[in-house]
Amino acid sequence: MLGKQRTMEAFEKMYEMFPEAHGELQHKNPYELLIAVILSAQATDVSVNKATPALFEAFPTPEALAKAPLEEIIPKIKTIGLYRNKAKNIKACAQQLLDQFGGQVPQTREELVSLPGVGRKTANVVLGDAFGVPAIAVDTHVERVTKRLRICKLDASVQEVEQTLMKKVPEDLWVKTHHTLIFFGRYHCTARSPRCEVCPLLDMCQDGKMRMKNPANKHLK
Ligand code: SF4
Repeated sequence: MLGKQRTMEAFEKMYEMFPEAHGELQHKNPYELLIAVILSAQATDVSVNKATPALFEAFPTPEALAKAPLEEIIPKIKTIGLYRNKAKNIKACAQQLLDQFGGQVPQTREELVSLPGVGRKTANVVLGDAFGVPAIAVDTHVERVTKRLRICKLDASVQEVEQTLMKKVPEDLWVKTHHTLIFFGRYHCTARSPRCEVCPLLDMCQDGKMRMKNPANKHLK
């Protein structure tokens, strides 16, 4: 396992590689971000970004979305995986924003996870990107990269990955680290073809060294 200092050395290298790392879901306000993050579960940001302009044009506020019949919401998000459930969730979520939060997106994790379709990861993305509250959302990229680098234990749960990162990374770097890990996992240390041969972190990466020694290991998780 990488200690605190080596972990931060790894992140410094990632920050240098992806200084522009940022959330890629298009949005103009916290309501749009919340809905976009709910839609992005098990779907790509690209597919969500293709659908949301028309969705938000039709339903620009929680009021409009809560009032809309499902038959009008579904066609707007049909290109996104699990769209039927997601349509129900975003409509119910909009209704709950109206009923319990005065039509505003709440700014605490406890309140956010009380909304339909919102788990801890979604809440953390909204806290960090909409409100600047320090949070680390653990998605598939964050989990894979931190385990490959042995920043976290291989058998750590998603919640344990989050806890470990919160211990090893200073709080003012949580949001930046979250975005950087996602860029690093999406564009460099990818699931199927990590670019170990040109990776500046190879000297501290057990997984990378194993892959370089034996290319048959390329598809190790
Ligand atoms: Fe990922 Fe390979 Fe770099 Fe390790 S050496 S962080 S596995 S790209």
